[in-house]
Amino acid sequence: MPSDTSLHCQVLVVGAGPAGGDLARRLAQQGVDVVLVDRLADLGRSAFSSAALPMETVNAFGLPAEVVGSRWREWQLIGPGAATRCWAASRPLGVVLDFGALRRWQADQCRRWGGRVHLGLQACSCQAEGERMVTLLRRSDGSLLRVSSDWTVDASGQARALLGDPPPAGRPRDGLVRAAGLEWLLRVSPSCWARWADRLSFCLGSDWVPQGYGWIFPMAPGVLKLGVCRLVDPQRRQPPLGGLITDLGRRLLGAGARADGFDVLDRHGGLVRSTIRRREAHQRGRLVGLGDVVSTANLLGGEGIRHALTSSAVLAPLLERALTSPGGQASAQRALVDYAPQLRRALGWRWELSGRVARRTWLGLHGQGADGRLDQVLRGLERRRAEDLSALLFGYRFERYGLRAMPYLLGWRS
Ligand SMILES: Cc1cc2nc3c(=O)[nH]c(=O)nc-3n(C[C@H](O)[C@H](O)[C@H](O)COP(=O)(O)OP(=O)(O)OC[C@H]3O[C@@H](n4cnc5c(N)ncnc54)[C@H](O)[C@@H]3O)c2cc1C
Repeated sequence: MPSDTSLHCQVLVVGAGPAGGDLARRLAQQGVDVVLVDRLADLGRSAFSSAALPMETVNAFGLPAEVVGSRWREWQLIGPGAATRCWAASRPLGVVLDFGALRRWQADQCRRWGGRVHLGLQACSCQAEGERMVTLLRRSDGSLLRVSSDWTVDASGQARALLGDPPPAGRPRDGLVRAAGLEWLLRVSPSCWARWADRLSFCLGSDWVPQGYGWIFPMAPGVLKLGVCRLVDPQRRQPPLGGLITDLGRRLLGAGARADGFDVLDRHGGLVRSTIRRREAHQRGRLVGLGDVVSTANLLGGEGIRHALTSSAVLAPLLERALTSPGGQASAQRALVDYAPQLRRALGWRWELSGRVARRTWLGLHGQGADGRLDQVLRGLERRRAEDLSALLFGYRFERYGLRAMPYLLGWRS
């Protein structure tokens, strides 16, 4: 029978994704005794995120070159229908991260600053014992590790392994909105690579992905990411994602795997689940939620990495201060009272607006009428610069065009 063991620390961070990895490295750098755990045995595996980011995020969070897969300076929107539109900038506008490399780098930084990293541990439960938290983690051989900490941070992503899902909302539109994504990593020929390098390409319109979108991103020379994502709509029968991504690959790259020289190196996927208004509890006593656990992922582009990093930048100093004020669970609750409002301010009012735009746009995108409305919005953007598109799609600055395009996006006008 495998034996149980125990560990003590000031802060236990469960989940070594962008949110948990960033928090652990920040706390370790400040001398906090931090333990970072993840159920994955290798953080380079199961790299489910397509990880496109604007350049500002790379600079703001000091991400090193080793986590960057490639850079891009062009937007390409394919569809609806036969239209293909491109917007090119003279300088790089952003990067596509190597998501596995990002997670490894963050964990490595945590170790270098004196933090402890334990992989292959699945958090099962967490409860208060006096002024401390006790978290139970299971190893792959079934044995248990008991971690006693001043604070436990749930950074387990949309799984919300410890904090749990928010209770069902009174109004359905305040509940969790789900998006499901599937992605293939492809090795392609040099000529195929040249066609898709330097640009983020999206396929829009119901004949590509009803209620969602497809994409091709350049990952590294000779390697592309091909993906599909859509909002889950319990009201409709939705075609399987596997069929949609196969179809996308056939239409964009040729007849199928190997037929025109591409190999599928990896297949992965996952869910994004967020509430639009983000009114869920961010904390239960000395258990705190971070990143996707508190719905920081935005549903417009299924985009959560930079918002997860923002949540850790907000929480880290508050948690450091809270460590110096001991007391029971009630005083712990008070110590982080500023966390949710500060995070809401850091994400900004546009974050919530864009979530509402996303729900309207994607759920409504089925059939010719919706394709026509989307085409009209895109036509209105044709004379804009690539930088303006970044401001719209990453900065959520709808109002710039907006007053004409927004009613269509929001479905107020058809
Ligand atoms: C297909 C797809 C494409 C995406 N594309 C983009 C994109 O282009 N750009 C972008 O910004 N975002 C993208 N996202 C979203 C983005 O990946 C997430 O929002 C982001 O990773 C959230 O970071 P996080 O640290 O909060 O959670 P996660 O990255 O989900 O990390 C959570 C970690 O917790 C671990 N974990 C879970 N449960 C347990 C447990 N019980 N015990 C121990 N460990 C546990 C997991 O193994 C994981 O490592 C995409 C998502 C998907 C699914």
